[in-house]
Parts: sequence; C-alpha cells; structure tokens
Amino acid sequence: MNPRVISFHYTLTNNKGDELDSSRSGDAFAFLEGVGQIIPGLEKVLAGLKVGDKQKVEVAAEEAYGMRDDNLVMQVEKSQLPKEDLQIGDQFQAGDDQHMQIVTVTEITASHVTLDANHPLAGEDLIFDVEITEVRPATMEELSHGHAHGAGGHHHH
Ligand code: ZN
Repeated sequence: MNPRVISFHYTLTNNKGDELDSSRSGDAFAFLEGVGQIIPGLEKVLAGLKVGDKQKVEVAAEEAYGMRDDNLVMQVEKSQLPKEDLQIGDQFQAGDDQHMQIVTVTEITASHVTLDANHPLAGEDLIFDVEITEVRPATMEELSHGHAHGAGGHHHH
C-alpha cells in the first residue's frame, strides 16, 4: 500500500485530565505514514480511521514518549551554559537538527545546573481526542523528504 498523508485535529490530555496541547486553534496536524513522524501508539490507531471519524485514543507511556531515563539527567557547571539567568522549569533546545533535544532545568545550585533531557512527556500516559480531517496519498516530494507538506505539515519550502 502506498503511504498516505493523514491530517487530524487533536486535544491531548494526561491521565489526570490536564489539557497539554491542542490543534484546535490552528491547522489540523498532518503526518506521513510509516516514517515515525508521530508516536507509534497513535499512528497505529489513526491508520485505521477515515475522514470524519472521531475517537479517543489512549496511549500508554511506553508507546508514547517512553519511560523516564535517569541517564538523561545531567549536571553541568553554570559557566558552561550560555545563559546566566536560568530558572527551574526553563526549557531550551540542545543538539543539532537531526538529534534535537529539549532539556528542562530541574535544579540550580551555586555552581551547577541540573538538566533533564527526558522528553517533557516521558512517563506520561496520554489521551488524544482526535478527529480525522483529511486522508490522501503522499506526493513523490513528500516521500522523498520523509514528511508531510502543506497546512499542518512542514513549512520549510
Ligand atoms: Zn519537505
């Protein structure tokens, strides 16, 4: 079967009912099937839906952003960080385009800062309320780039 581009609106909550994210205020999110653009536990369910379908999809942490890994928590000397006025809870990007990580500041001492590179949603069971808005065949260009284009897809062209 040829890969498809699937667009959907979603509201994401954790298992405590807190809303974490939503596409409802903007474009539906578009992804290319089969390339790992979205978490596997969600893609598996979306692949079986059709336009107009609404569904609540519960994805356990293991199938979402994985469990927390203590090895991804590191202490760095303050002098090694470009920013001085860091606060607990600050998030910034580290690494290059291919292996971009979001790190979160979790502790600050006089000399050191603790950075946590676990995904902010690691260890969380996630609940997606989804509505499929479009399903279409992927274009040759999308297949060669490995992602969806257009509204809700990548906007790098
Ligand atoms: Zn592209």
